Amino acid sequence: TLPKVAWIGLGIMGSPMSENLLKAGYQVTGFTLEQDKLDRLAKAGGTAAASIAEAVADADVIVTMVPASPQVEAIAYGPDGILENAKQGALLIDMSSITPQTSVDLAKAAADKGVRVLDAPVSGGEAGAIEAVLSIMVGGEKADFDTAKPLFDALGKTIVLCGPHGSGQTVKAANQLIVAVNIQACAEAVVFLEKSGVDLTAALDVLNGGLAGSTVLTRKKDNFLKRDFAPGFRIDLHHKDMGIVTDAARNVGAALPVGAVVAQLVASLRAQGDGGLDHSALLRAVERLSGS
Ligand code: NAD
Repeated sequence: TLPKVAWIGLGIMGSPMSENLLKAGYQVTGFTLEQDKLDRLAKAGGTAAASIAEAVADADVIVTMVPASPQVEAIAYGPDGILENAKQGALLIDMSSITPQTSVDLAKAAADKGVRVLDAPVSGGEAGAIEAVLSIMVGGEKADFDTAKPLFDALGKTIVLCGPHGSGQTVKAANQLIVAVNIQACAEAVVFLEKSGVDLTAALDVLNGGLAGSTVLTRKKDNFLKRDFAPGFRIDLHHKDMGIVTDAARNVGAALPVGAVVAQLVASLRAQGDGGLDHSALLRAVERLSGS
């Protein structure tokens, strides 16, 4: 029989991901802060819990998909949190993108309570979550990875154990660096092409067929063309991720000269009130610099 799943955090990613588990036959009990998201889970065949303690009490596997390290710490620790209320031997899979150190610390604290932990952040965006084709980068013990693999198969396509606790988060930090720099390069090309008077749709199509092609260019093309910056992946979250990769790289002495500049541009969007927009809104930062 399939393990019983508790799912904490039913946002842009958590809702479609938990629904994919329901489709695969898992029993899912969920908790999140928005009532409409709890209603959505119940409508999809899951069970809405009234608290974290209630959600995790009977669970074999607990998945968390919340914004950042402070939220993971808030839901894991404390009297009403996961570690106090989970069954002995339960497996906690944190799929949020957080600092590698938070994942390492969580694994240690959980071991003291008889709870096993994997860090398993994802890439592929809302579309990847809906279509169950996420890349899942995992840190932790091989035996726990093997236990979780069938569940990961219901959520993603490329599923890799990267190393010990925190490794999944380190790989995710690198992912976010690459994505931000790639979006920035595309945004600069879009402004340059428009100011040059070239047909943008034609240009992006031919660029995408060559070495300049990328998942970013494919997925974000319409955002650029229509100036549609509905999230998707919020600037606020990418700002958090640029902080994670900047700190982690400094800790190991890796230089991120271009990443540092893009981190500043992401921060500038936030400062101008665009933190709730999709990260393709880096186009706005380039337009402002270009006087567009
Ligand atoms: P979101 O803001 O849409 O959802 C976060 C959810 O966490 C919300 O439903 C909120 O209610 C819940 N939450 C927050 N604090 C809580 C608490 N104390 N108790 C219970 N629930 C709580 O965010 P998202 O876009 O789904 O992103 C979630 C994580 O996934 C982030 O770490 C993000 O960086 C990462 N991620 C997002 C995307 C994307 O494209 N959106 C892609 C890959 C990874």
